[in-house]
Amino acid sequence: TAKQQGRNRCVVYAPAMRHAVSERVALSRDIGAALAHDQIVPYYQPKICLGTGRLIGFEALVRWQRDAQTVLAPAAFSLAMEDAELAFMIGERMARRVAADVRGWLEAGHGIGRVALNVSPAQFTHRELGTALLRHFHAAGVEAHHFDVEITETVFLGRNSDFVAPILDELYRAGVRIALDDFGTGYAGFTHLKQLPIDTIKIDQSFVKDIEQDAFDTAIVCAVIELGRNLGMRVVAEGVETVGQARFLKARGCEFAQGYLFARPMPATGVSAFLRAECSETAAARLALIA
Ligand code: C2E
Ligand code: MG
Ligand code: MG
Ligand code: MG
Repeated sequence: TAKQQGRNRCVVYAPAMRHAVSERVALSRDIGAALAHDQIVPYYQPKICLGTGRLIGFEALVRWQRDAQTVLAPAAFSLAMEDAELAFMIGERMARRVAADVRGWLEAGHGIGRVALNVSPAQFTHRELGTALLRHFHAAGVEAHHFDVEITETVFLGRNSDFVAPILDELYRAGVRIALDDFGTGYAGFTHLKQLPIDTIKIDQSFVKDIEQDAFDTAIVCAVIELGRNLGMRVVAEGVETVGQARFLKARGCEFAQGYLFARPMPATGVSAFLRAECSETAAARLALIA
């Protein structure tokens, strides 16, 4: 098992191990221990308005802080994120911590915009998902309109996909905004855009990467921006790493972006420092960068 392989080995739970039942048991035990030791934590990545350079919010991204040196991204424990019980437990922890962090920043007087939680298909197999999220926001004393939920089109392919609409409606009625993540990488989501309370489309980073060189990617991104505009939805580009990409997106009418160009995902302590530094000058500097 993972433990027998030694303490210093970075254990990675990837789908290749899917068939190994003993690995599933070990994973479940290790995630349980990680939760017990508070090693499952949110990192936060800022989202920026390309028109003003201002911060509009953050995306919370799960990390497994195994020890002082090792921070694992979800790709390293994707098996857990795909398991209905483990994903639900991780989602509960994320919601609780994110809500508490948001409360702290609001109490400190920061304008933080909205903070987005990612929710995976495995979590949607629980009918009480919406109620559980709202309960965490309420327990932290933060109103639901401070939060977004990001879903991917793959939620409609999962088990219990008829839970998706009622869960999203419940969240939406409470003030949570719904974003469709990785747009364009699943199957065409037009029906979902029409039937569900979605108000944000996120352009997948795979289309942003070569946006300036690849005519196909350019066409797709421009079409998505246009679609969002015509549907009255906000459009956020993900994975913006270069000034060229940001300029290109802005010129094509994309309103919002996130990516390493502006900031990498950071722990909650980093966000506090980020928020203290945030002011009209930092926004102006971003604008100048992409002008
Ligand atoms: P996502 O929601 O599409 O998140 C965007 C991913 O792109 C994140 O990877 C982020 O760290 C990364 N990223 C941000 N800016 C850049 C950039 O400029 N360049 C590049 N190359 N990458 C960038 P991460 O954190 O590893 O998350 C991967 C995926 O795991 C997420 O994709 C999301 O689907 C899932 N995930 C993350 N956190 C959670 C969570 O708390 N719950 C659930 N259910 N899923 C999560
Ligand atoms: Mg996301
Ligand atoms: Mg995405
Ligand atoms: Mg993604």
